[in-house]
Amino acid sequence: MAAYEVQNSYANGHVNGTINSAINANVKHPSVQVSEKLDEIEQIWGRRTKATWFSAFFCFLLVTLCPVFLTIIFATLEHFDGSILGTLTAFREEGSLRFFINYSPRPDFNAAVGYLAWLLFQALLYTFLPGPLSTGQMTPAGNLLKYRTNGLNAWLLTHALFLTLGFSGFLDMAIIANNWQGLVVATYVYGFIISGFSLVKAHLAPSHPKDRKFSGSMIFDFFAGVELNPRFGDLWDFKLFHNGRPGIVAWTLISLSYTASQYQTLGYVTNSLILVDLFHLMYVVDFFINEDWYLRTIDMAHDHFGYMLGFGSVAIVPGLYTIQAQYLARYPVDLSTLHALAVLVIGLGGYAIFRAANHQKDVVRQTNGQCDIWGKKAEVIIAPYKTADGQSHESLLLCSGWWGFSRHANYLGDMMQAFSMGAACGNNHLMPWLYTLFIGAVLANRVRRCEARCSGKYGQNWRKYCDRVQYRILPGVI
Ligand code: NDP
Repeated sequence: MAAYEVQNSYANGHVNGTINSAINANVKHPSVQVSEKLDEIEQIWGRRTKATWFSAFFCFLLVTLCPVFLTIIFATLEHFDGSILGTLTAFREEGSLRFFINYSPRPDFNAAVGYLAWLLFQALLYTFLPGPLSTGQMTPAGNLLKYRTNGLNAWLLTHALFLTLGFSGFLDMAIIANNWQGLVVATYVYGFIISGFSLVKAHLAPSHPKDRKFSGSMIFDFFAGVELNPRFGDLWDFKLFHNGRPGIVAWTLISLSYTASQYQTLGYVTNSLILVDLFHLMYVVDFFINEDWYLRTIDMAHDHFGYMLGFGSVAIVPGLYTIQAQYLARYPVDLSTLHALAVLVIGLGGYAIFRAANHQKDVVRQTNGQCDIWGKKAEVIIAPYKTADGQSHESLLLCSGWWGFSRHANYLGDMMQAFSMGAACGNNHLMPWLYTLFIGAVLANRVRRCEARCSGKYGQNWRKYCDRVQYRILPGVI
């Protein structure tokens, strides 16, 4: 196990220290800009504390509408030939109550047992598989947590088992596709259970009490979460498990199952579905290869664990992120060579930007800015901040490479990938584009939240960065 010990001792660019270390660092970094005084920086950062009546009402709407949204996707694919217009017409003609009675996914005992077995299997892999011990991001209360990042091993083992059982004839690989409606219901139920459980645990047995945020509204707390890093014991992290395992490991497995289903129906797999499988595979394997990096993203470092992450990870990821495979298995599309090539180029280009931008941010923090970006010394702003325990820390804001191109170039790469997944499905229906639209909305919201958070955390230094890198996503456009 020694080989798995602490992979990332610099801990994402946040070192304990005083403003002096930031000034000293200028000697080492000719490309560094001098920071403002630490006293001038807001000490309270992290999620907003108090909910307004509007935000609480909005959370209530989202809690209600997420399962409705997933149910409409299910109904459209299952009963209305993938046509949203057909679904809306039935909704109008039959009325909402009759529509949901007629077309909602039905619970199924075998699917529920299968889903429970899936959760337990992933929990066992998460608990017992070896993997590096990685370090997360400094929390607002000053906690720096360790995580066992064994996701790649879990993904490999799960897929190896599925493929082995499938090709040896012990398992029908279309099993997930064939039991989809029961599985969809099981994800809804578990999504609510885990969100409710997290709220109760936050009140009764919090893991890190000072990192909790109470908004004053139960529904807001249920939706946005109270605990930042709920855990069982020292290392069993709810957020890393739920964000990564039951949903993201399942993502490629569901696509594979729908591919098997298409093969069983058509006798071959369409080039559109091969492209979709490739894009899903790239996204998911990249996620697990870089699981250590994921610890320093907004999901892990900023978002508290409630319905948004809980239901999002266990129900929306399997239900929505696989939508192209679900659609193509039922409504196959053969793309022209030119169309397929164009989609492939956009998808690979998007992935290249996404990975490079994410990597540049990580490497600059890991090396304390002592690295080259695009062949030149990394240009950074040293940005001090404080945690609630009164300790001073510092971060580096990269302003060259992709982070000098725009402030969220990684989102541009993500959008290009989401676009290519939709475009792989042709343009017969809007349905397979819902993931693209959803990711567009999620990332637009992320831009807003990330900038508010960084402004609170880094104050004037964040504004200095914004002055220097003026565009959010695409220079000259947005
Ligand atoms: P980022 O990885 O961009 O993380 C944002 C954080 O990085 C900021 O809050 C800040 O945190 C730090 N940061 C901001 N600017 C700089 C800079 N110039 N130099 C160094 N650090 C900086 O965003 P996300 O966590 O939202 O996303 C991570 C990836 O996941 C993205 O590629 C995104 O596209 C993808 N994603 C995918 C989703 C999906 O469902 N498919 C959903 C959401 C995201 P601090 O300083 O505190 O470290």
